[in-house]
Amino acid sequence: MRSSSSRTAAVLLAPLLLGLASWAAQGRPPGQQAAPEAPPAAETKTEAVKVRVLENVPSQFQARIEQRKRALSKVPAPSAGFSPHALVSLSKRWANGQTLKIAFKGGDANLHKQIADVVSEWTRYANLKFDFGVDPTTGQYRQWQPTDAEFAADVRVAFDKSGYYSLVGKDSTDPEIARPGEESLNLEGFDKNLPADWMGVARHEFGHAIALEHEHQTEGACDFRFEDDPGYVATRDGDGQYIPDSARRRPGLYTLLGGPPNNWPQAVVDHNLKDMPPSRAYPTGPFDKSSIMQYHFDAFMFTSGDLSQCYTSGENLVLSDLDKSGVASVYPRAKEAIAADDLIRAKAYEVMSKAEALSATTKKHFNHLLEALKK
Ligand SMILES: [Zn+2]
Repeated sequence: MRSSSSRTAAVLLAPLLLGLASWAAQGRPPGQQAAPEAPPAAETKTEAVKVRVLENVPSQFQARIEQRKRALSKVPAPSAGFSPHALVSLSKRWANGQTLKIAFKGGDANLHKQIADVVSEWTRYANLKFDFGVDPTTGQYRQWQPTDAEFAADVRVAFDKSGYYSLVGKDSTDPEIARPGEESLNLEGFDKNLPADWMGVARHEFGHAIALEHEHQTEGACDFRFEDDPGYVATRDGDGQYIPDSARRRPGLYTLLGGPPNNWPQAVVDHNLKDMPPSRAYPTGPFDKSSIMQYHFDAFMFTSGDLSQCYTSGENLVLSDLDKSGVASVYPRAKEAIAADDLIRAKAYEVMSKAEALSATTKKHFNHLLEALKK
């Protein structure tokens, strides 16, 4: 687990790159392998390559987050330990001991209970509570609607948007990032059919909801292979997806993810896969490849292939030991730890509530958080 304290504001969701492209698993970079013996044409013809749709926050959220990031880059660091990244990270955390209201749109009470049971595991370690608003008479869970004029809940779960994603922490109730009628977390199709890895997906997305960022964006942790193999000649299959060329040179991630079905501009690839600057407001733990916040990536995505420290042979589905201890330190229970934490947060909120580069709405939002902390 990485707390948001170690991360920048913007990154939300990273790719569910599981099983991204089968051809890729074949190989070491061309320089390390013997010349292909099979005719190149046969090579590409026989490969059934399907690139998955990756986890990515919808563009309306991304635009708002980028806008805030730009504004924040103009906020001067108030003191040692408070980079703009640290400020944003701190501002996304919920208060220690806070009860988060959660609401669903779609699905039935049975599904809501299944999700609630699984994701509540976080609250065994973090000093947070989840309130699903279960009606004792009807057994129904709290609902939210697109027509809501006020936030019905801190975390608003939907099943009808495309893909899996979640806003990070308090971004879900920051009026400049999310509106009351918008979902903050999406689990596509869970109301129709629960995929085999649904528990891992739900735990991961609720990790974002409590302000955790991606493990694989830990600074310096992952050697993603962004560039094409030298000399790669753009080659596509029948679906328009990029595939290795006739000499087995492979497309890099910019090329691969730039094509169907993701069609990500380079900036979006960077947003989801590049390192996040570390914050100095809190110490950060070691990189944890077992974290639920670490995705499984195919070996070909890394420069060092399956030797990369970021490579795992499968998807992480459960909270790791470091997830548990990490989230317990981000949301402590001990009084002294809470008091120390509140001081740091108050400082961050104060800076943001006065930052000239931020809009009046955002400043008001942070002033409100500051006042709430003083109570
Ligand atoms: Zn994610």
